[in-house]
Amino acid sequence: MTKKKEKTKKQYIIDFFKNEENHNKYFQLSEMDSEIKTAYEKDTGSNKIYTHRTIRNLPKYGDSQLNGIVEKSKRGTYIFRPGKKRVKLKSPFNQLTKNKIKKRDNYQCQWCKKKETQKEPLAVDHIIPEDDGGEGIYENGITLCTVCNNRKKNLKTSSFGKNMFKNYLVVSKKNKDEKAEKFLNDLLKVYEKHNLE
Ligand SMILES: [Zn+2]
Repeated sequence: MTKKKEKTKKQYIIDFFKNEENHNKYFQLSEMDSEIKTAYEKDTGSNKIYTHRTIRNLPKYGDSQLNGIVEKSKRGTYIFRPGKKRVKLKSPFNQLTKNKIKKRDNYQCQWCKKKETQKEPLAVDHIIPEDDGGEGIYENGITLCTVCNNRKKNLKTSSFGKNMFKNYLVVSKKNKDEKAEKFLNDLLKVYEKHNLE
């Protein structure tokens, strides 16, 4: 018998999902557990392998070895979908955080300084967008009026600011306002430094 290279317990779980026969099929935790246990026992003679927690974490955290994602169905079964990419988790602000951010921002749009009115309530938006992993936390919130919020809807917050400064730079150059020009050039360098497109 040739000596096998030491394989981690987790590897047995990952290998279950890497096996093409198991792709695109729904499995109960118990079904997977028994199959993985069998494979583990065959190699090691022991059945002391616990699979449930590792499998439960896969839909949330994934695994770099898996070219695809493990999804959990509403019925509590799991399925491996090869080639599919993970959807980034959304992180909205809760009402309490929204209130705190609005208060901090003095109930004013932070772009155009418009005050909140009953007719036009202000919105709280992510500074680092959700798609870039920006969280719905106090530090990552900014108060905007609906006009400014709509204007930047399809732009990232950073590019909204950057574009505004860029436009203003063109105006400053046209007006030969050297002081403003220097200031704006410095500002735009900060965007570059932080890789904000
Ligand atoms: Zn505004």
